[in-house]
Amino acid sequence: MNTPLSFIESAFADPASLAAAARLRVVLVGTQHPGNIGAAARALKTMGLARLVLVAPEDYPAEEAYRRAAGADDLLGDAPVVDTLAEAVADCHLVLGCTARSRRVQLEEHAPRQAAAVAVARAAAGGEVALVFGRERTGLSNEELQLCHAAVHIPANPGYSSLNLAAAVQVLAYELRLALLEGAAPATAEPVHPDEVPASHAHMEGFFTQLGDTLDAIDFHKGRTPDSAMRKLRRLFAKAQLNEQEVRLLRGILADAQRMARLAGGGGTGSLS
Ligand code: SAH
Repeated sequence: MNTPLSFIESAFADPASLAAAARLRVVLVGTQHPGNIGAAARALKTMGLARLVLVAPEDYPAEEAYRRAAGADDLLGDAPVVDTLAEAVADCHLVLGCTARSRRVQLEEHAPRQAAAVAVARAAAGGEVALVFGRERTGLSNEELQLCHAAVHIPANPGYSSLNLAAAVQVLAYELRLALLEGAAPATAEPVHPDEVPASHAHMEGFFTQLGDTLDAIDFHKGRTPDSAMRKLRRLFAKAQLNEQEVRLLRGILADAQRMARLAGGGGTGSLS
């Protein structure tokens, strides 16, 4: 099987840019028209990007996808198909969700150029980065947007702001290429200390699950629905860009809070009552 780099090995003269490009993936969620999948593969390859991941496409594999991929059928053939967005981004350190509707979610929002700069900087520093695109009819669900660290909106005509899926992929892929051509030298030549490895998406999801359980255990919500508080907490921790060691520390605190809640609830040995 080809490695992703083999599709793009001549796409960037600078080896650091090539290495960063190989850490960028585009994720298409629930795509309805296979032609858009092919056109997205072509959009990526023209910009020197190699990694496409498909989440539960509606009609795939399909001849139409390969027709529209033109010469990018190699890249398309290598695109993994998975069942959920969580699976597609489990090893990612930065996940950006592209949305046709501005300010629809309480996420920090970037324009494409800013998003590309952030994405390339993170990839240059060794992080895995995903740009996520939604369904043609309905875009990304709120649950899917919750898995993203920030939203990206192409500032199109406000009265007609929804681009064709593959056209939106092309705009973002072009901005990524410009950012990669500007150079992707890591900000520091110092090797990253193992304790400072940024927490992966899967680590953060484990933390959020435990945080939700703990808030329940200490009756933080008091009958209110937990959604709004959890959304705000997700945003807060996304801004903090936690590393693995910090996540371990916070989870240790949560584990103690859960233990104390159990004791207070009478689930303990009784020695404290
Ligand atoms: N009717 C859908 C539009 C989906 S278009 C909706 O209202 O959400 C399919 C996908 O293309 C979107 O989910 C998004 O990922 C991308 N897209 C389309 N227009 C965009 C824009 N202006 N900015 C960012 N992404 C866009």
